[in-house]
Parts: sequence; C-alpha cells; structure tokens
Amino acid sequence: MTYLESAVPLAPTQPEFELAHRTARLKSSLVRDILAAAAQPGMISFAGGLPAADLMPPLPLEAFANSALHQYGTSEGEPAYRSAVAEWIGSMGLEVSAEQVLALSGSQQGLDFAAKLFIDEDSPVLVEGPTYVAALQVFELFGADIASVPLTAEGPDLAAFEALLATRKPRCVYLIPCFQNPSGTCYSPAARAGIAELLDRYNVPLIEDEPYRSVALDVEHPMTPICALLHRASWIYLGSFSKILWPGLRIAYLAAHPALLPHLVRLKQAADLHTQRPGQAAVAHWLAGGTQASDLGKLCSGYRLRRNAMQAALARHFGDIADWQTPRGGLFFWLRLRGELSATRATLDKALAQGVAFMPGEAFFPDPLQGRQYLRLNYSRSTPEEMERGLATLAACIRGA
Ligand code: PMP
Repeated sequence: MTYLESAVPLAPTQPEFELAHRTARLKSSLVRDILAAAAQPGMISFAGGLPAADLMPPLPLEAFANSALHQYGTSEGEPAYRSAVAEWIGSMGLEVSAEQVLALSGSQQGLDFAAKLFIDEDSPVLVEGPTYVAALQVFELFGADIASVPLTAEGPDLAAFEALLATRKPRCVYLIPCFQNPSGTCYSPAARAGIAELLDRYNVPLIEDEPYRSVALDVEHPMTPICALLHRASWIYLGSFSKILWPGLRIAYLAAHPALLPHLVRLKQAADLHTQRPGQAAVAHWLAGGTQASDLGKLCSGYRLRRNAMQAALARHFGDIADWQTPRGGLFFWLRLRGELSATRATLDKALAQGVAFMPGEAFFPDPLQGRQYLRLNYSRSTPEEMERGLATLAACIRGA
C-alpha cells in the first residue's frame, strides 16, 4: 500500500523503501559534514579545501550571455574546450589529442567514472595512505577492497608499492603525485619513473589526479605526469580548474588512453549527458587568453603569503607537539602529532565547540586507525590573525587543556 492509498494517516511514520546495498553502506563524507559545521558564523575553519575567492580572476560573463550555448551539447565536450585542454595538458608534459579529452562536471566525476570502469564488488584497488577522502568514498561505494601504500617525502615507498602490486593484483592504482591531498607530497622525478616502470611491468591501469598541479609555490624539479611515462599500462589523467579558476562552475576534464576513452564517453552519456557549456566556454576563453601566467602568478603569490603565515603560527603553537613538511604547493599542511597525542572526531567536536574546524587524519586512510596521529589544516581561507587565534585554540584542545 502506498501513502496515498492508506486509509490511516501516516504522518508520524517513516516512508518505506529498500535502499540499494551500495547506497545503504555509503558513508557521509566527513569533509562535507565538517564544512557544514564550519560554515557557522564566527567559526575559524582550517577544514575545507576551498580556494580563496579573492584570488580568482573575473569570470568572462560573455560565455553565459551567449544563447547558442544554452542548447544541449555533445557528451565529449565543446570542441574549443577540448582542444584548449589538450594543449594545456601538453604544456605539462603529457601529449594528448583533443579526441582524448573528455569534459567533466568536476574531477570528482572522473573518480566516479574511474570507479564504474574498473571496480566490481571486492575488486582490489591501491591508493596512497593517506589519500583524498572523497576518492575513498566513491571507491567504497562501488565495493572496492582498498589497500594503501605508505607515502615518504619523495612519493610512495617503491618496495611496498611493488609488493602490493604483486600480492593484491589491483584493478587500478589511484595517485595524486602533485601536492597530494592531504599530505602535500610532491613526487620526485625518481619516484615518478619508478612508479611508471612498476605499473608497466605489472600492467595495472593508473588514475592520476592532479587538481593542485598549478598551485605550485616552490617547485624545485620537473613534475612530469606519470601517465606520460607509461609505455604499456593504460591510464586516466584527471585535471580540474576548481583550484585555480571558479570551483562553483564545476569544470574539469580527463584525458585517457585511447582504449579507455569510448567507455568513459558512454559513462558520461549515462551520468549527465554533458558538462554545462557556458562554463566550458568560459574556461576555454581563459585558456586562449593571455592572462594565464599573470593570473596564476597572482594566485600563487597570495597563497605563498598565507602558507608562510600558517607556517609561522604553527611553529609557535605546534612546534613542540607535531612534525610537518612545509607544503611546496596545494592548499594544506599535514601534521603528525608526537607521542601519544591524537586528533580524533572527539578532538574535532571539542574544537568545533570552541569555534575552530579542522580535518582529523582518520578520514584519509582506508583504515581510520592509521590516521589518529594526523590532522590536515587548510591555509588558503584564513587571515594571519585567525590562524594565530585558531591554532592556539586547536593546540590547547589537542594537549587536552
Ligand atoms: N581530487 C582531489 C585530490 C581533490 O582534492 C579534489 C577537490 N578537493 C577533487 C579531486 C575534486 O575537485 P573538483 O571536483 O572540484 O574538480
């Protein structure tokens, strides 16, 4: 019997439905929950990864006024956008044709497609430990059996990586080699070459996710995409304009090995038909214009100042209780607490009650227990004064004061 057929008023009861197994086990994203709490007035938030709105270039509004772009478009994406993106990816060291590019509604959509492409119930998947929390969420949605490889300052531990490839035989490997979220790690050239050699040897597909590549503050070596170093293994390269232009537009892209592309286009058709056209046109306009270098220069100098301010405030308040590497790009500090100190959900609740939000490390590992000693702090959205006040409060919460 349905609501409407029922003779008895059903208002106080819950409607009945049976959730699909995959949705029933889907955990809410801790990041999105914390972002909701962090949006309270007066909260100092180090939790999200929101880019700074004051550092974004002005939006080219002509693209939105062009009524030709209000019609449906192609699933692959706008031709001008695809060729501008192919050139943009080429400038990073990965040569692709425009036909290998697929417009995405956020690179998060690329993770969804990669999961749909490779993951069945219990399929083994290999990620970095720690890794991007919403990648874990989507891989878990499709039932992946996720293993993680430990990260060193240079990139994944290559011996552990090889052992996991050999024993777990993963369907795919997911890596964030440039200014990794959350750890800030930027793989060395040797780590990139080592990973590519192993992926080719074991013939395992790579999903390389690079939203932070252009948020490069102090780069000391080439950051050749690992996809460009592969000879045998297949690959999907994910990029996004969310961290350098206008994240609300949700404009991103993937480029893929030609053998994978037709499958990805079908997934795009089934998911949302196509990415919004005015946003693609706005980004294509930016890519074709002459302001990239100055816009990115302004963005990075703004972030460098904020990164340095947080480094100084951290040294004052966390110098004796935590260790960290100063991030050379990306939007985060990743702290490891010393001794028995931990930063759990309980610590977060305490900090939120005192007006400070941060991300506990547990969210970033397939096994949350591995993350107890860690916390992630975003530096792009706070003033030096907020950093000073917020980090003093947070350090006191962690010390148990
Ligand atoms: N990958 C990583 C590693 C990220 O940090 C993010 C955003 N936080 C995304 C993908 C998704 O970015 P978007 O969907 O905005 O392109």
